[in-house]
Amino acid sequence: QQQFIQQQEKMAMLGQMASGIVHEIRNPLTTIKGFSQLIKPLAREAKLKEYVTLIEQEANEVNKVVTDFLTFARPHTPVLKQVSLNKLVLDMKMVIESQTFLDGIELNFLLSTDEPRVMIDEQQIKQVLLNIVKNAIEAMEDTASPKLVISTGIKHQEKQVFLSISDNGPGMSEETSRKIGTPFYTTKDKGTGLGLSICYQMIKEHQGRIQVTSESGEGTTFIILLPYQNQEKGNKELCQAI
Ligand code: ADP
Ligand code: MG
Repeated sequence: QQQFIQQQEKMAMLGQMASGIVHEIRNPLTTIKGFSQLIKPLAREAKLKEYVTLIEQEANEVNKVVTDFLTFARPHTPVLKQVSLNKLVLDMKMVIESQTFLDGIELNFLLSTDEPRVMIDEQQIKQVLLNIVKNAIEAMEDTASPKLVISTGIKHQEKQVFLSISDNGPGMSEETSRKIGTPFYTTKDKGTGLGLSICYQMIKEHQGRIQVTSESGEGTTFIILLPYQNQEKGNKELCQAI
């Protein structure tokens, strides 16, 4: 317990320091990006063009890490609103489709006809959904027939609603399953290891929980469980595929 509190304090302090540093990095980064963009059309030599593109790409890379980090370090207080979980998923449909389409991923939505309703910070849950979807897409990079299934539903007995994201990628090793959600834990060359820690943090603040099941070579399912909100028990058990 004592150790846990110390750890929490350390993380909070680290967070404060980090967000300070992040702002210091962002300003010069904007300058680097801006001037690379200005130079590019002026670069007549192919080599020079290549170098400028590289500067621009790497600046974008730094920006990505820094943005992830800022989201992670910023203290969040969720702004709660009652929303339909299905609607939230549908709002994100285009964004998700645009990402899966390019990679040739088969995408299916199975939305509960019971219309699960939740009290949530919509922006935060959308971000959680996107972070998990992004991981699934990245995991399926070398998968022969990649598939992504996003579903919603209600667990009446547990008074919970769920949002699940399944992929048929390579799954996770036992070590990875244990370590995911720990800040900076990543198995990717260009990963930040912050995506899932942001998700876990946000879902915890919603009094929810994330369950993960992963089978090596079969795929991974993330289930986000959130407290039930004024739910009328529906009479339809079927899911609606869209
Ligand atoms: P990052 O994506 O930057 O690596 P995350 O916190 O989002 O950081 O994920 C941490 C790690 O969890 C990933 O590096 C990967 O090893 C593992 N992971 C997450 N989602 C999946 C998935 N759907 N399939 C396989 N591994 C996953
Ligand atoms: Mg990620």
